[in-house]
Amino acid sequence: MFKEILLPIDLDEPSSWAKALPTAVELCRASPARLHILTVVPEFRRPGVIEVLPNDYERRVLAEANRRLNVLIEEKVPPAVPTRPIVATGTIYKVIIDTADGIPADLIVMASHRPELSDYLLGPNAARVVRHSSRSVMVVR
Ligand code: ADP
Repeated sequence: MFKEILLPIDLDEPSSWAKALPTAVELCRASPARLHILTVVPEFRRPGVIEVLPNDYERRVLAEANRRLNVLIEEKVPPAVPTRPIVATGTIYKVIIDTADGIPADLIVMASHRPELSDYLLGPNAARVVRHSSRSVMVVR
């Protein structure tokens, strides 16, 4: 059914993977498909910020995100599902769209929003991915 599935997650927000990850895993098993799990470290290079950060700050932040993503994969993804961790930096929704195009992914699976923000049903990144990506998107409620 699918060949390449992209699951974008926020490492600091368990609700971004609690339901979406098992859903993506099930779809991968049924297809069968490869699972690409992406986490984006938001862009922090701004004038006034970059000058005061240590030189290797970006490398260390990305390395730590990579470590946490691999721990999550080891704990939550069955070994039989071929999985690729991806850590990137930039504007979250743009990186998700570009990564999906680059793979190329035939499906993006993502959670809709943080549950505590119940006054809207689609978070800003989920909404932009649905609106601007040419790929199929499954929004997991
Ligand atoms: P909210 O502001 O309620 O968290 P978002 O639209 O930012 O709403 O989050 C919805 C989904 O967007 C998340 O479940 C995840 O799939 C994706 N997302 C959010 N932040 C990141 C991130 N840093 N890296 C990768 N994906 C993210």
